[in-house]
Amino acid sequence: MQYIDPHIHMVSRTTDDYETLAKMGCVAVSEPAFWAGFDRGSVESFRDYFRQLTEFEPGRAASYGIDHYTWLCINAKEAENVQLSREVLAMIPEFLDRPNVLGIGEIGLNKNTKNESIIFLEHVELAIQHQQPILIHTPHLEDKYQGTRMILDMLCSDRRLDCSRVLVDHVEEHTVRPVLETGFWAGMTLYPITKCTPQRAADIVERYGPERLLVNSAGDWGPSKPTAVPDFILEMRLRGHSQSLIRKIVWDNPREFFGLD
Ligand SMILES: [Zn+2]
Repeated sequence: MQYIDPHIHMVSRTTDDYETLAKMGCVAVSEPAFWAGFDRGSVESFRDYFRQLTEFEPGRAASYGIDHYTWLCINAKEAENVQLSREVLAMIPEFLDRPNVLGIGEIGLNKNTKNESIIFLEHVELAIQHQQPILIHTPHLEDKYQGTRMILDMLCSDRRLDCSRVLVDHVEEHTVRPVLETGFWAGMTLYPITKCTPQRAADIVERYGPERLLVNSAGDWGPSKPTAVPDFILEMRLRGHSQSLIRKIVWDNPREFFGLD
């Protein structure tokens, strides 16, 4: 089955991974800007990274017939440095018109600090000013519930925001309901050890239905499996779900949210 991985950090993966993804039916990926494995020292470092995301990665993907899309921001971990964050925010508009850029992301919270919240809101302002959709990272494990609540409260207090253009990612059983009920899209990240497994994601689909739900592999520096979306497809097939239901989650939904025809 053809599918889209809506959240995968291909800069941390090998070219062999692109080939494997293509053979498993992946025809498009979307890559939010994130942490580089170390804190970057200057805005120029981010400018080079955004060139990698908008110039080099699309070519690497295209050699396996995969369309590459991306999102730009300074991630929550590095947002603790407010001055650097503001320099990056001021530079982002240089890249917004590039053909593979979908919007602002993945912004969010990491440790739910005041500085993270300040820079989160400044990203939201940037997205509103430039009419960009937003992709949101929610914190890990013990910080997830509180961080998700803080993010939803910040978003809901801004009446200019169009919920249908915001995706809240890394939802789990205890956070998916408030995200969907508020009218946002929700992403489930399939990880080998934390976040969701393909089985838990299938349970969530069975409980809440497929509307505004996406699944992704995240495929980042930590233990992660770039072919996790095919694992989810298989789990759904083995449970007897229809092709059209599965296709809605791995194909129709990401295309709708990304605004692809
Ligand atoms: Zn990510």
